[in-house]
Amino acid sequence: MADPATADETERPQRAEISNYDIVQHHFRQAAERLDLPDDVAQVISSSYREVTVQIPIKLSDGRTHVFSGYRVQHNGARGPYKGGIRFHQEVNLDEVRALAALMTWKTAIAEIPFGGAKGGVDCPAADLEDSEKQQIARSFIDKIEKVLGPGRDIPAPDVNTDAQTMAWMMDEYGKLHGHTPACVTGKPIALEGSYGREAATGRGVVYLYREAAPVLGLKPPETRVVVQGFGNVGSWAARIIQGLGARIVGVSDANGAIRSDEGIDPDALLHHLGDGGTLPEFEDAEAIEADELLEIECDVFIPAALGGMIHERNAERLNCRMMIEGANSPTTPKADEILEDKGVYVIPDVMANAGGVVVSYFEWVQNLQHFRWDERDVNDKLGGIMRRAYRSVAQRANDSDLSLRSAAHELGIERVVEASRTRGYIS
Ligand code: NAD
Repeated sequence: MADPATADETERPQRAEISNYDIVQHHFRQAAERLDLPDDVAQVISSSYREVTVQIPIKLSDGRTHVFSGYRVQHNGARGPYKGGIRFHQEVNLDEVRALAALMTWKTAIAEIPFGGAKGGVDCPAADLEDSEKQQIARSFIDKIEKVLGPGRDIPAPDVNTDAQTMAWMMDEYGKLHGHTPACVTGKPIALEGSYGREAATGRGVVYLYREAAPVLGLKPPETRVVVQGFGNVGSWAARIIQGLGARIVGVSDANGAIRSDEGIDPDALLHHLGDGGTLPEFEDAEAIEADELLEIECDVFIPAALGGMIHERNAERLNCRMMIEGANSPTTPKADEILEDKGVYVIPDVMANAGGVVVSYFEWVQNLQHFRWDERDVNDKLGGIMRRAYRSVAQRANDSDLSLRSAAHELGIERVVEASRTRGYIS
């Protein structure tokens, strides 16, 4: 691995000055005010229950030892065990993990699955790590936080730069201390009691919501042009599944650049190209463009599926879409939200749009606890049912109260967490 101090600058996105934490707190405060939550209740509900910071010293391939920091934040467990992904990225910090953990609390409540919210991360330059280094980090992190984890306590999952392989290492490490415990993490490989459909679940959930919302704007899949920002797990699956409905992918970006094609980009061919070691701008069947130009591509649906804060005050005006479905967490700043509202863009917010991953993580946990496996069709059908129910209840609330989907979703999620906390006797 390269020296972490000079790690790959290309992974640094053009993000907003406002932090993810400020974005998440902004939406909470607005909803709390509308719901007239007493200050003490708001404080209990908005702050983290537990925040763990650990040291992860790793011997690099060049022989030196570098100390990374690992974080696990358990935000709220009133509705069930803490649940949330673990991210490996050089920009991870406690504030960001705290924000993402809170977002998980609202997300699980909006989807009505019996979990609380958590998130974790390690501030390592994952793109530059060798597999052996990544494995050392994954195992060491679990060793340091295992006391607060477990199937009935807190269940991690993949997030940016972590995947089924990372979860396999984590399950194995947890198992050394506690015995074989597949339900201790989700997003595992199929060969290690992972669930069919989990890998595609977040992208599939994004597409289920497109199908629900398309009639609102009179969109039909064969006439829908889609731009995807970020071509990792969420972006690539969303692209493949929406293309399967007949939609055309006219722009794609990742950390290395952006491409466009009015005739359509085949996401399977693009994945193949990337799998063979090519970079995204080198993809032959599309035109390479500047990363920022991606926003200006005329399309019906824009799917942010990279990092937080990428749609902000200085670039939201450039977006040329009718609908935005937030695959990423906190991709849009509050100022950008206002600009998009003025432009009439129909925004389906992260707390609802990217819940597919945690919903199928819930299914994986249930299957692990029962030692029984469902087939993929079963998983996808059940996922569709939950995503549709969430969209319909949020859209109904938005209509009834003349709110954006984001505001309505936050109200619903926060109300459910408050109710669970009251019923348990945590708040009066
Ligand atoms: P990933 O690591 O698989 O993919 C991230 C992608 O973003 C990569 O293609 C990367 O190259 C790209 N990227 C990074 N910087 C970029 C930039 N400046 N411009 C354009 N692209 C850039 O991660 P993922 O799991 O797909 O997660 C993506 C987002 O979705 C994150 O915000 C994550 O929190 C959120 N999310 C993921 C899941 C899940 O199940 N994986 C669930 C809910 C939400």
